[in-house]
Amino acid sequence: MTRNDHAHLERCVALAEEAAGRGDAPFGSVLADAEGTMLREESNREATTGDATFHPEFVLAQWAGTNLTPDVRAGATVYTSGEHCPMCSAAHAWVGLGRIVYAASSAQLASWRESWGLPVAPVRALPVTDVAPGVETVGPVAPFDERMRAIHEAGLAQSR
Ligand code: ZN
Repeated sequence: MTRNDHAHLERCVALAEEAAGRGDAPFGSVLADAEGTMLREESNREATTGDATFHPEFVLAQWAGTNLTPDVRAGATVYTSGEHCPMCSAAHAWVGLGRIVYAASSAQLASWRESWGLPVAPVRALPVTDVAPGVETVGPVAPFDERMRAIHEAGLAQSR
């Protein structure tokens, strides 16, 4: 983990907060090239688009697949506030993107949801590497994971 990695995770947390502010689920992601330069960022827009597959990691993978060369994709890193779900892990691997750095893990999110009495998600919370074994992953990363927990919990309080 470099200072640049931390800066990109910081941005992911801010994007997640922005999403929550619009009524979307609190998830944000940043796509950076091999030099660490941000290429594109996205946040969850499930509520605002009505598309339940509008996960930032999925949208970034689709964008990378049509806008970047295979070499640039392979050297790129996707930073994200929450570990990719299986759909997003698959998209990431299909387009040949590189490393993933996530603040909170899918296992953490699943256990938080359970502790808050929320229904189990319709898709199993598998680690990225169960879906995409060739992808290097880093996470969870403190203190960003605890910050994401607080953001998820705050959204929960608002919706009750
Ligand atoms: Zn996803």
